[in-house]
Amino acid sequence: MSAKKKTRPPNPAAAHGGADDDFRLAEPYAPAPEATDHARIAPAYGLFINGAFVSAASGKRFATVNPATEETLSEVAEAEPADVDKAVAAARKAFGPWNRLKASERGKYLFRIARLLQERAREFAVIESMDGGKPIRESRDFDVPQAAAHFFYHGGWADKLEYAFPGRKASPVGVAGQIIPWNFPLLMAAWKIAPALACGNTVVLKPAESTPLTALKLAELTADAGLPPGVVNIITGAGETGSALVNHPGIDKIAFTGSTEVGKQIQRAVAATGKRHTLELGGKAAHIIFEDAPLDQAVEGIVNGIFFNQGHVCCAGSRLLVQEGVAGTVVAKLRRRMETLVLGDPLDKNTDIGAINSRAQLERIEALVRAGVEEGARIHQSGQKLPEKGYWFRPTIFTETAQSHRITREEIFGPVLSIMTFRTPDEAIEKANNTPYGLSGGVWTDKGAKIFGVTGALRAGVLWANTFNKFDPTSPFGGYKESGLGREGGLHGLAAYVNLSR
Ligand code: NAD
Repeated sequence: MSAKKKTRPPNPAAAHGGADDDFRLAEPYAPAPEATDHARIAPAYGLFINGAFVSAASGKRFATVNPATEETLSEVAEAEPADVDKAVAAARKAFGPWNRLKASERGKYLFRIARLLQERAREFAVIESMDGGKPIRESRDFDVPQAAAHFFYHGGWADKLEYAFPGRKASPVGVAGQIIPWNFPLLMAAWKIAPALACGNTVVLKPAESTPLTALKLAELTADAGLPPGVVNIITGAGETGSALVNHPGIDKIAFTGSTEVGKQIQRAVAATGKRHTLELGGKAAHIIFEDAPLDQAVEGIVNGIFFNQGHVCCAGSRLLVQEGVAGTVVAKLRRRMETLVLGDPLDKNTDIGAINSRAQLERIEALVRAGVEEGARIHQSGQKLPEKGYWFRPTIFTETAQSHRITREEIFGPVLSIMTFRTPDEAIEKANNTPYGLSGGVWTDKGAKIFGVTGALRAGVLWANTFNKFDPTSPFGGYKESGLGREGGLHGLAAYVNLSR
């Protein structure tokens, strides 16, 4: 935790009234400018419960590894049911006072967190890239600024809920249990925590076991921002810890982002418990290129759609549908472009393709690529030299694929693209919708009418036209079918954290 306490802006609660007397800020606001210059990773982290780091009751810890070097970065505590109990109790105790705090004061805490994230952007970006393997250019220009933007955006809503839900009274749901995956660790934490807090809820959040560090840094940051103890609790562990959180009777709402398989287990676990739940799950997006599209730009869109974050993206454009007349040209351009991508050290700002997040994920990608070859699809891989240590996978595309191939049906969650062709818009729509998922999709064409016609027929929650992978906190994100239920971001995302009454 930051030790330097140089400036002390007034406690927003104390300065403006509205806080319970016993709910003063425990820690003064303590920006640590030096933190922006170094990625400070402690050798070990406890669980962040009630505003302080504590050991797990069992004393157990597990290692978090840099996937680009295979070196252990830190050891983090493994939470078991007794620890989950403690975290939920802390969140419950904090809930009343936090909820009673004047809404504009709650908003100020969110703004503070957003500003501190901006001040420490460099440290967060470096740690995100070390723990998860993503290129520093992405963590610096995407993950951290987007996380700050989510806190700013939701800070703004805190005292405007009556305008968000006109004619209805919005009250918080209570204690939210939040579980996130490893592909955007800080950003997913922001997506979860910011709306929950803005609406007056308190949270217990569990990051993924392979990428816990930026959530733990965020815990430090909330303490530095003076956030009252217990409002945000961060517990680390793997699936069993997540399951203990889901099944805890003191939880009022579960917000889960992760695989469809685990999402289904969670839905079964909360059935008939009265727990609210939102599930952001997997995807297998269709990225459709019509022959009237600007092809050079479309190829950049395809590259961004599938190789951004090594393809560890739920809404990745992992199924490319190209109109037959331009398929040869698009594939040739794409193959040339793939050779120019820089693969290697995630901390090098020229890197385009970083490390695969974990050995387990690398093995999953390799297994599905083998299946693609065995099932008869034609593989094209770029020729980059792979570093000797770490987990790496070359940008890969498959042509001559069939709808029945595993590589066109299953989420690979790696830098692997399956390409199919189509002749007519109807055929493109039919193929695009032929998936159990429904998270995202994209269309490239120079005809506005075609954009409206095709996107209107696609069964996917997020659709892009002549661009891909664009995000904004004002815009709801979420899927249909096996991609989940509920939305995050925008007004729809806020609604998931309130009970509405007349
Ligand atoms: P995962 O489902 O294995 O794990 C996600 C989280 O759930 C982790 O924190 C994990 O520890 C926890 N978990 C595992 N088993 C659990 C259980 N039984 N009960 C409760 N929690 C449990 O997914 P992953 O491999 O970490 O992430 C990749 C998946 O996430 C992909 O399928 C991807 O599409 C999806 N994802 C979806 C979105 C979205 O917004 N729709 C965003 C990012 C990732």
